[in-house]
Amino acid sequence: MSGRDPVAELTGLLRKARRPVALTGAGVSAESGVPTFRGPDGLWRRHRPEDLATPEAFARDPALVWEWYNWRRERIAPARPNPAHRWLAAYERANPGFLLITQNVDGLHRLAGSRRLVEVHGNLWVLRCTRCGREGEDRRVPLPVPPRCPECGGLLRPGVVWFGEPLPAEALTRSTEAVQEADLLLVIGTSAVVQPVASFPLLARGAVVVEINPAATPLTPSLDLSVRSAAGALFRRIPLPGPPPAGSGSPSPSHPGGTP
Ligand code: NAD
Ligand code: ZN
Repeated sequence: MSGRDPVAELTGLLRKARRPVALTGAGVSAESGVPTFRGPDGLWRRHRPEDLATPEAFARDPALVWEWYNWRRERIAPARPNPAHRWLAAYERANPGFLLITQNVDGLHRLAGSRRLVEVHGNLWVLRCTRCGREGEDRRVPLPVPPRCPECGGLLRPGVVWFGEPLPAEALTRSTEAVQEADLLLVIGTSAVVQPVASFPLLARGAVVVEINPAATPLTPSLDLSVRSAAGALFRRIPLPGPPPAGSGSPSPSHPGGTP
């Protein structure tokens, strides 16, 4: 990369972008105290997340899976958005072209105020009935194990996407289209190993792709800019975007007549 200060470079890119997209993973919530799967807290009672967050594990032992989710919900309940979540929520208000895609199920982006948000892996606070399909938010901590549907008494499951399950079609279409059309793509706090989201950055056609992660990932070699920093610490240094300046309106096409 050029010898420029990466913070200044990123600030310039964020100001200029008309169709920016951010893709976040567990790392964006690390500074809020939410453990990532691959960090030192990634093991629970010697089970790996990959062995618990699956339809097979739930079919075999729903109580075990629910105890793990109760533990995660307990850890996440007191967590508050950090400067990265808050910066991204402010950016949405200042930039009408911005879309935020998250793999996180912790709900912290929504809590920070983000609304143009695709939660591709669902949300830990949503429960879905395995019998009648009813879905609803339930923030009780801990939940009775296993929780039962108030309508039909069926077994409830977390409203998240497990390993081996497809992403909801609408979330997938909306995210891939936004990435294809993006002019700036920020990849924040994801190890880029959980598919299909790990491949999203490869769909970018014209975007400058920037990674924000204290560690290198499989994506790092193919990026335009890699900022090796914790996300919260970095965004604390980037001025919070205000609303678009009065009179600037929506971005005017550089070729008013149509084709360039
Ligand atoms: P991951 O645990 O595989 O990787 C986390 C990444 O974040 C790593 O590359 C790490 O270097 C980086 N990181 C650590 N601290 C950071 C910081 N302060 N700032 C920026 N980056 C930091 O997470 P993943 O790639 O999101 O994939 C794991 C899957 O697990 C996802 O599907 C996700 O839904 C789920 N998950 C979600 C949460 C959550 O909702 N908070 C937590 C754990 C796992
Ligand atoms: Zn039901």
